[in-house]
Amino acid sequence: MHHTSRLEVSAGAYAQNIEFLRTRIPPTTQISAVVKGNAYGHGITQMVEIAENAGIRHFSTFSSDEARKVNSAKKQESEIMIMGMLYPEELPELIVQDIQFYVFDFCRLELAIQAAKMVGRPAKIHVEVETGFHRTGFENSDLPQLIRILKENEVHLALKGICTHYAGAESSVNHERVRGQIIRFREFKNSLEREEIYFERTHTACSAATLLFPETHADMVRIGIASYGFWPTQETFSLLKHTLEKENQNPLRRLLTWKSEIMSFKKVAKGEFVGYGLSFCAPRDLNLAIVPIGYSHGYGRNLSNQGQVLIQGQFCPVIGTVNMNAIAVDISHLNEYTPGEEVILIGNQGENEITVASFAETSHLVNYEMLSRLPSEIPRKVVD
Ligand SMILES: *Cc1c(COP(=O)(O)O)cnc(C)c1O
Repeated sequence: MHHTSRLEVSAGAYAQNIEFLRTRIPPTTQISAVVKGNAYGHGITQMVEIAENAGIRHFSTFSSDEARKVNSAKKQESEIMIMGMLYPEELPELIVQDIQFYVFDFCRLELAIQAAKMVGRPAKIHVEVETGFHRTGFENSDLPQLIRILKENEVHLALKGICTHYAGAESSVNHERVRGQIIRFREFKNSLEREEIYFERTHTACSAATLLFPETHADMVRIGIASYGFWPTQETFSLLKHTLEKENQNPLRRLLTWKSEIMSFKKVAKGEFVGYGLSFCAPRDLNLAIVPIGYSHGYGRNLSNQGQVLIQGQFCPVIGTVNMNAIAVDISHLNEYTPGEEVILIGNQGENEITVASFAETSHLVNYEMLSRLPSEIPRKVVD
């Protein structure tokens, strides 16, 4: 089947990003590749292959369906950890498949113990601590009950990890809050250790914490956005750039290129409106190219009269509204063109580049959101 656009995912860029991240953490700290949100839009199956080839042996997902995708894509003895959603009835199967998961409340803890008893194998759990993010995690007041249950069920639980998540390490306005979280986490962990409850690994850091708070590195870091070649925020790069080996030079490389092609051409006379409504009136005679990509493909409606694409290495602005399946772009400044010619929606062509950030900023989306909204149906191909 033909699709109207294609995504290319660069294995070389990923390997380079991982290499850079490894220079920022101790050699004993493991990297878990966070592949939630269809691997930030890159495709779970493709990313597992790329990551394992780059030496990654640990994957973090949000949900059990993502964990199963990793499980069927992996070719190495990689560990899989679910940080969020799973259904109680799946627990026995997940334990049998050796899939690890977060436990952040007593309800899930009890279900894990029951399931472990049922299948006759310990559940591999990561105990999540509430330190100030206020989404999930055990509170300080839960400690006595938590200690009792963990001790009573020692044989049914493999304590793989103790963890938390920081509330916005990517912006310095939140750094006071993050520092408080670091302290509360340490206290919680100490309380368990005083009761001789130990965990195989401590892990708390996402990309921004890994890059900006070395004291959070511990045994493992959970890296998403940076491994895909993006800074969590522009500020993260600003705060960090003076410490880089090549000062001020961005060491991260984008993996993703998004391509489509020209479907058709249209000449529009001065004074005519283009597309639905009155949002664009031709200020002069125009030559337009129609590209078969629209908001149903993840090319946001808010790029109407805002977005740009590359054709023949030249920027071509989006004219009028982004439709469900198509956009019009101005190619009046190009001399010759042919149907089927390559159109770059994200990526390089010639000297020029459409960055996800420029794309995301004009559409008021951060990188994370724009990437994870790329529909899973668009074919993804691994390239060097
Ligand atoms: C998404 C996520 C991460 C990774 O965050 P990045 O900013 O993309 O590195 C780490 N930990 C948890 C719990 C997450 O949900």
